[in-house]
Amino acid sequence: MNKKRVYTFGNGKAEGQANMKNLLGGKGANLAEMNLIGVPVPPGFTITTEVCSEYYELGRDKVVSLLQEDVKNAIANIEQLMNATFGDIENPLLVSVRSGARASMPGMMDTILNLGLNDDVVEGLIRKTNNPRFAWDSYRRFVQMYGDVVLGMKPVNKEDIDPFEEIIEELKEERGVKLDNELSVDDLKLLVSKFKKAVKNQTGHDFPTSAYDQLWGAICAVFDSWMNDRAILYRKMEGIPAEWGTAVNVQAMVFGNMGETSATGVCFSRDAGSGEDLFNGEYLINAQGEDVVAGIRTPQQITKVGSQRWAELACVSEEERLAKYPSMEEAMPSIYAELDALQTKLENHYKDMQDMEFTVQEGKLWFLQTRNGKRTGFAMVKIAMDLLREGMIDEKTALLRVEPNKLDELLHPVFDKKALKVASVIAKGLPASPGAATGQIVFFADDAAEWHAKGHKVIMVRIETSPEDLAGMAVAQGILTARGGMTSHAAVVARGMGKCCVSGAGALKIDYKNKTIQVGDLVLKEGDYISLNGSNGEVYLGQIQTKEAELSDDFRELMTLADKYTKLKVRTNADTPCDAQIARNFGAVGIGLCRTEHMFFEGEKIKAMREMILSEDTEGRVKALSKILPYQQADFKGIFRAMDGCPVTVRLLDPPLHEFVPHDLKGQEDMAAMMGVSVKKIQERVESLSEQNPMLGHRGCRLGNTYPEITEMQTLAILGAALELKAEGIHTYPEIMVPLIGNVVEFQQQEAVIRKTAEKLFAEKGDSIEFTVGTMIEVPRAALTADKVASSAEFFSFGTNDLTQMTFGYSRDDIASFLPVYLDKKILQVDPFQVLDQEGVGQLVRMATEKGRSIRPDLKCGICGEHGGEPSSVKFCHRVGLNYVSCSPFRVPIARLAAAQAAIEEA
Ligand code: ADP
Ligand code: MG
Ligand code: MG
Repeated sequence: MNKKRVYTFGNGKAEGQANMKNLLGGKGANLAEMNLIGVPVPPGFTITTEVCSEYYELGRDKVVSLLQEDVKNAIANIEQLMNATFGDIENPLLVSVRSGARASMPGMMDTILNLGLNDDVVEGLIRKTNNPRFAWDSYRRFVQMYGDVVLGMKPVNKEDIDPFEEIIEELKEERGVKLDNELSVDDLKLLVSKFKKAVKNQTGHDFPTSAYDQLWGAICAVFDSWMNDRAILYRKMEGIPAEWGTAVNVQAMVFGNMGETSATGVCFSRDAGSGEDLFNGEYLINAQGEDVVAGIRTPQQITKVGSQRWAELACVSEEERLAKYPSMEEAMPSIYAELDALQTKLENHYKDMQDMEFTVQEGKLWFLQTRNGKRTGFAMVKIAMDLLREGMIDEKTALLRVEPNKLDELLHPVFDKKALKVASVIAKGLPASPGAATGQIVFFADDAAEWHAKGHKVIMVRIETSPEDLAGMAVAQGILTARGGMTSHAAVVARGMGKCCVSGAGALKIDYKNKTIQVGDLVLKEGDYISLNGSNGEVYLGQIQTKEAELSDDFRELMTLADKYTKLKVRTNADTPCDAQIARNFGAVGIGLCRTEHMFFEGEKIKAMREMILSEDTEGRVKALSKILPYQQADFKGIFRAMDGCPVTVRLLDPPLHEFVPHDLKGQEDMAAMMGVSVKKIQERVESLSEQNPMLGHRGCRLGNTYPEITEMQTLAILGAALELKAEGIHTYPEIMVPLIGNVVEFQQQEAVIRKTAEKLFAEKGDSIEFTVGTMIEVPRAALTADKVASSAEFFSFGTNDLTQMTFGYSRDDIASFLPVYLDKKILQVDPFQVLDQEGVGQLVRMATEKGRSIRPDLKCGICGEHGGEPSSVKFCHRVGLNYVSCSPFRVPIARLAAAQAAIEEA
């Protein structure tokens, strides 16, 4: 059977449906579905995503000939439903050509509207509609979009404006008008001819006149755009594979630019920023396509409530609002009622917040798109919990609706209220995406990337953003635009990224050439600090202090719900009582990794530590260690106290000693004076400690095995602290962890030291503490011989940072030199230090767990590398049957949710 490449829809019928997103793309599948459930959608057809792959395999000509027949038939279907003919002069059918991948990629690929026009057809359209202004406006737009998207008419330099916009600006200036819609019909006509001349000049070709030539050009341009830089960048950011491809949607045009009873708009069934159950959106009368989001004119609000809220923020009086910016609810009440009913219908149908596009042509409402709306992390949690309470979705669905990584946004700082009070507001825009941001002004995406790479925090400031700005937006703390509403590109993308954004701050005069912002008398330059409040739209001068976020009740409920389904426990990696406390507040049920070396750096401790290292014999070391002991014990007491009732895994000293010694002359002199030896002696000792390859050198249990007195001291400190707390009624469950073993004997000898020291201590104190001794599995040999190791070790903790390093043979500290190339060339899909390599490193984890438990069935296994807070790695740990994951405090909620999702997905 022939492969089906084209799926038609229209007039309440469709060959596709919502669950065919992989084949039809999100847009195409939903256009089909809307037809099926009785939402008015202009007829059209979808060319499948598989054809996109064929396009890249077989090339343009082959694919055009493969599609020829199907496309002709599908166009005929539209012609029949619309009672018009494609390319016909008297009764022309115009179409739009739209891209649409599986996952929504907003603004990634450009749409072409009004396709099918030429100098003759435009005259026919005038005769047909009796509306020359509309016809020429449509033609002007078509030549502009087609020129840009298909013929590559783009600005040459980043400071230049778009070649077509330049022509428009020139003419507007000549005519002394400000807005596009103030140009006369003759002006529009003139623009078309100027545009076509510019195309001829720049490309050397005439603008295509045949409707079918135009159509094939547009279809192929959609396929080409799948591989453009900004699409590639977006896919990279979102982890979308290139193989998916994009579908192409061709659809009969409906016109929002036919006069005062026509309009176009965008709406959301709930608030994408706050999650509130408030229908909202923006529209423009007598406008087309993306006019609303492009910030060309000030868009008006759809609902009256929204309009009033907007007016308040924009400092527009109620009178002016009603006269100039009435809501659709007020200006077009019956269309509004229909729109409201349909948005409810769509939300109920998809059981999620919808982001919709519509057009009104001479009083008739059409839907052009619906999709599950992008939202901030905050809104994501609220909407999921609201839908659960409303009975629209069940608990498991609610949990699966929240992207674990997005919780990050909720946990991050907000402005310190006191600091905010004294901050000076320099401008006000729309609260497009909530949050607090402070940083230095930059104007261009590449500058943003450059400044960011140098460690600066930047705020990206634009008149309005476009997909070219994505790379800059991704690294910025926040985004500020002078134009554009709540549904502008900047706003939508920022919400998707969970970035703070203030849009449409009209008071800002942005000068790209001189890289300045003028607000009243104030002039700000690139590099100056500003702060943004994405929750109320305020822009402040300078840096403003931030403080910890306050967690919402919805967040707490979501976390409680997560625990109901989770099997995997979540612990934290914490070395200080403060971190331990934060993690506990986020729901950590233990410490999976307490690194002791961090305890040696502060103040007097480092001196005692250095003395220990620089000592030449056991006697000297023991003396120095006895100075360290009280410090260590006090540190452990602080942590154990914070973790009252929870297990704490303490890792014995791990890093190469060389890291602790003084490398500067001043430090060496101090140590010499303190220890009563010559500086030269100290220098010799420092020299002798330096290693060719310290990460594979004298570190981990190799330290404890060569200097058992270190292990003795640490054991005394850990158990001594626990004993003292026991007297205070605090419950401690120490788990002493020997790092970096590769050979069971390395473990056994350390274990013997620990047990002997404990026995002595317990006898001395006449009291005891229950504790376990286990090991970190981070050397591949330890994983390979895990059964032997488990015969002695009471628990395993996978140190996946080192395990990744040693399994790949990639130095964690040097990977930056080749990782970008490897990612680019697809040698690696992701950074294995961020996302656990399930195939290789994961196999070692799985095998070691199985081998270990074959000897010791109740062996407690966990993971404590960076991966412990990365959702896909957490899910893997669940599948392997680990008991817990341990991650940094701020990732604890992310891991808890990912763990719950893993359990739900498995069932
Ligand atoms: P994107 O994927 O960037 O949202 P779309 O394909 O949705 O691009 O189209 C851009 C704009 O053009 C949207 O506002 C959409 O509603 C409008 N549009 C697309 N096709 C038509 C059509 N056939 N008639 C009227 N407006 C259209
Ligand atoms: Mg677009
Ligand atoms: Mg769209």
